[in-house]
Amino acid sequence: MAAHLVIAIDGPAASGKSSVARALARRLGFVYVNTGAMYRAITWLAVSKGVPTADTGRVQQLLHFTEITCGVADGESTILLDGVDPTPHLVGDEVNANVSAIATIPEVRRILTAKQRAYAGEHDIVMEGRDIGSAVFPETPYKFYIDASPEVRARRRASQGLQDSVAARDKVDSTRRTSPLVIAEDAHVIDSSNLTIDGVAGEIVGRLKLKGLVIGDR
Ligand code: C5P
Repeated sequence: MAAHLVIAIDGPAASGKSSVARALARRLGFVYVNTGAMYRAITWLAVSKGVPTADTGRVQQLLHFTEITCGVADGESTILLDGVDPTPHLVGDEVNANVSAIATIPEVRRILTAKQRAYAGEHDIVMEGRDIGSAVFPETPYKFYIDASPEVRARRRASQGLQDSVAARDKVDSTRRTSPLVIAEDAHVIDSSNLTIDGVAGEIVGRLKLKGLVIGDR
């Protein structure tokens, strides 16, 4: 059982969940935890060391010899790999192309899931990803799944100037064996196709209040 409140936000790539989770966390005064950044950081590590993402054994070995430090700065999650901040590299084409493969490796998920759970020992959190409501914090009563039409999602990525095969990532993420992207049974689903970030965050706040959560909404 988590010591603090956990709001889980899952959804496919470019559904708008990162922007929503960040806005919601600010509004509630909770820490925003971006778990996609953790998988991306490990991917960047493998790619930059020339370790093929399909070579599970070498990826695992790399992980065991790397110090992964997760923390909080300015209300948001941070990650360091052997003291190095990988943030500038996380949305590059190579990371986009390889992250879903890295995320299929059970040992990678085991290590990162433990780090994700540790956040709730210290802070009230809004955590976003693919398996937060279904696998990382299945016991939280506050689960949301944010979706958007494939056209809207592709347009959002293109408008960010990013080359990202959203459909290919979704396919791998939804069909992998270990904690795939699923809609948790008790999640509240929101289609963000025609909503603003604040519109989605507002819907979530309304739902949290309906569930009896007393929150210091700003
Ligand atoms: O959220 P973002 O698009 O940055 O996530 C990048 C990738 O990390 C996803 O496509 C997925 O393969 C992986 N991921 C995951 N589980 C999470 C968060 C991200 O498998 N909880």
